Amino acid sequence: MNYDPKSSKAEEFINHEEILESLEYAKQNKYNKELIEVILDKANMAKGLTHREAALLLECEDEKLIQKMFKLAEDLKKRFYGNRIVMFAPLYLSNYCINGCVYCPYHLKNKDIARKKLTQEEIKKEVIALQDLGHKRLALEAGEDPINNPIEYILESIKTIYSIKHKNGAIRRVNVNIAATTVDNYQKLKEAGIGTYILFQETYNKVAYEKLHPTGPKHDYAYHTEAMDRAMEGGIDDVGLGVLYGLSTYKYELVGILMHAEHLEAKYGVGPHTISVPRLRPANDIDVSDFPEALSDDIFQKIVAIIRLAVPYTGMIVSTRESQKTREKVLHLGISQISGASSTSVGGYDDRAKGLKEEITSAQFDVDDDRTLDEIVNWLLEMDYIPSFCTACYREGRTGDRFMSLCKNGQIANCCQPNALMTLKEYLEDYASNNTKEIGENLILNEIKKIPKDKVREIVEDRLVKIADGERDFRF
Ligand code: SAM
Repeated sequence: MNYDPKSSKAEEFINHEEILESLEYAKQNKYNKELIEVILDKANMAKGLTHREAALLLECEDEKLIQKMFKLAEDLKKRFYGNRIVMFAPLYLSNYCINGCVYCPYHLKNKDIARKKLTQEEIKKEVIALQDLGHKRLALEAGEDPINNPIEYILESIKTIYSIKHKNGAIRRVNVNIAATTVDNYQKLKEAGIGTYILFQETYNKVAYEKLHPTGPKHDYAYHTEAMDRAMEGGIDDVGLGVLYGLSTYKYELVGILMHAEHLEAKYGVGPHTISVPRLRPANDIDVSDFPEALSDDIFQKIVAIIRLAVPYTGMIVSTRESQKTREKVLHLGISQISGASSTSVGGYDDRAKGLKEEITSAQFDVDDDRTLDEIVNWLLEMDYIPSFCTACYREGRTGDRFMSLCKNGQIANCCQPNALMTLKEYLEDYASNNTKEIGENLILNEIKKIPKDKVREIVEDRLVKIADGERDFRF
């Protein structure tokens, strides 16, 4: 197999030999400070990095250079994303699954987990509970099971979710994380108005992949790895990549995910919309000590920073799999989206809203950050981040390369920043505690001054007054 980023074959665009050669190149050059400095200069110009350059940065152990990488990652993040952090929550529809993934409690042989699939009525209750927290953006999650969770079920659920308007609440963007599927099904998801299609590769190492997915449709490495190509063919141009860190060797994975990003860019002219960085967590029937590749916090931070340098315009997501402390560390290094108040149980939000103990036996994994959304918003505000509930881009048709060009042209300050402030204002009016409201209002006052265009600033000021008077859903 030859390496070819434009190929449609998994083993050519994620090429094993090319990954091994890149790792070898990194080892050979790890003490070449001059070369590393040249790479950092390139990153500073927001030119992105090749998978080889990123491999070298990952191999570098020089503390001064690592600190330089971190500083640069923070600078790039501020330059292109400002201080906004986009908020979302996962919504688990069904944990029925026919796959045998050895790290996931949904695996078919697990007789201990309570299997559950939400009815449309139950979805309504989950959505109302999520709206009452203040969420506007969801990531739908489901196991793979063509009988229990066929595409029709997912499509019907999306329709239900978008249809629910409770008080001032609304779910305005539904991202979808379901198993690899056909071009036809991706087309249907696109027509249903999804935001990003998210699919974690789990591992890019084919040998490890096949061992970790011994049975079920997910066993097919090529079908899984080529899913984003089919999604693009089906018209979805916002796709989200991810590796589940802890399953296999992280050096291989970083090179793999960047090759995947390069492939999408080379073939479709647009890289991934987001990259997630999940780490393996304890779960029902899953003992993390069975997985020797667990990632330390230090390496985790380095990976986040290097991804930020390599793909400066790509959103980066960290979930509640990580603790408050770890999230605090990586927010500075380039993360642009986080989940909050998440339940990984099927039906967990409604249970929680009713004061019931969550049905943890249906949960996918243990979360490490179980704060309320208000606590998370408050925490972000205290660190001078703008918690953003914005969903404007895809609703305004700014997907794929159109979003990227907005980002590249530096128009974020005149577009995303105002949208972030207006959606934060909605949150403060409708859901925040008194203290959060107070610090949030102060932050908005300071941030408005930073909007460069006078006209845009005037419009935002006017709309903020209207939001206080009860109007909703303004956007640029
Ligand atoms: N079933 C879909 C698929 O096959 O891609 C995706 C839905 S699954 C609910 C979402 C992700 O959870 C998986 O892609 C996997 O990376 C992650 N996951 C599974 N088990 C996990 C665990 N024990 N700890 C952390 N994340 C896990």
